[in-house]
Amino acid sequence: MERKQLRIALPNKGRLAAPSVELLKKCNVKIENGTEQRKLYAGTSDPEIEVIFVRAEDIPEYVERGAADAGITGEDLVAEKCAKVRILAKLGFGKCRIAIAGKQKIGIKDISGKTIATKMPNATSEFMKKNGLKATILPVKGATEIAPGMGIADLICDHVSTGATLAANSLVEIATVMESEACLICTDGLAGRKREILDALALMVWGTNEAAGKKYVMMNVSEKDIPRIVQLVPGMRSPTIMQLAAKGECALHTVADAKTLPEKIRRLKELGARDILVLGIEQIVR
Ligand code: AMP
Repeated sequence: MERKQLRIALPNKGRLAAPSVELLKKCNVKIENGTEQRKLYAGTSDPEIEVIFVRAEDIPEYVERGAADAGITGEDLVAEKCAKVRILAKLGFGKCRIAIAGKQKIGIKDISGKTIATKMPNATSEFMKKNGLKATILPVKGATEIAPGMGIADLICDHVSTGATLAANSLVEIATVMESEACLICTDGLAGRKREILDALALMVWGTNEAAGKKYVMMNVSEKDIPRIVQLVPGMRSPTIMQLAAKGECALHTVADAKTLPEKIRRLKELGARDILVLGIEQIVR
């Protein structure tokens, strides 16, 4: 019997697991009965959506084969599995790069002829092919950083986020193979009602990401100060201005980047803005 609910595969553990559940929650899809370990299936607050919990690295395959209609996993894992799935949205967490590293800095051409220990043999081979390089790939399951010191490989190809693990093992980065972050994927050719449910969810995901770095800012201003204040906080299209009961006074509402907001608030006060309120935004759908 054909499954009617949209089934989303989520990472059951590791660094992508908690942020994936959190993202769905922000999109109003709450997983029922918590997310206890060892649970494989769960319903959600949306009767048309269910989730399954599997390993992040298996998700591209589950989705490619249609065992799940959609999933959240790393772009690097989609590339490594060479999965024929559609990437609907990048999710802004699980950011890292896959890089080639070694005991000393060498030119990219000098990678040829070397042995590279990696957990990601396909992504590494693809990079070699693209750059016309020939190297021996040595697949390992983990702790790649130890391989050059043990003399079993000249180089490694592995995840880097801060570079601290490389530094701790006296390794330096030589080349970036790919940048990666968590992404929402779906089965190629997903259609009908499931596609509609997923498109609606993708809109919420984009809206949540878009809203993440933004704040809604309200303030009282005198009419004469409006032109300079609008220049400082132009908002998404332009700020909303509402007349107050007091003559010559207005309320101005705008959207601003959270990162630069402290400096903007300092300038707003200099320009005469008062009673400044800053609120979080849940979604921005453009
Ligand atoms: P995990 O299940 O915790 O091993 O997570 C694996 C996925 O997390 C990787 O395939 C990447 O997509 C992502 N990731 C983000 N930063 C890192 C990192 N520093 N090391 C390994 N994986 C990372």
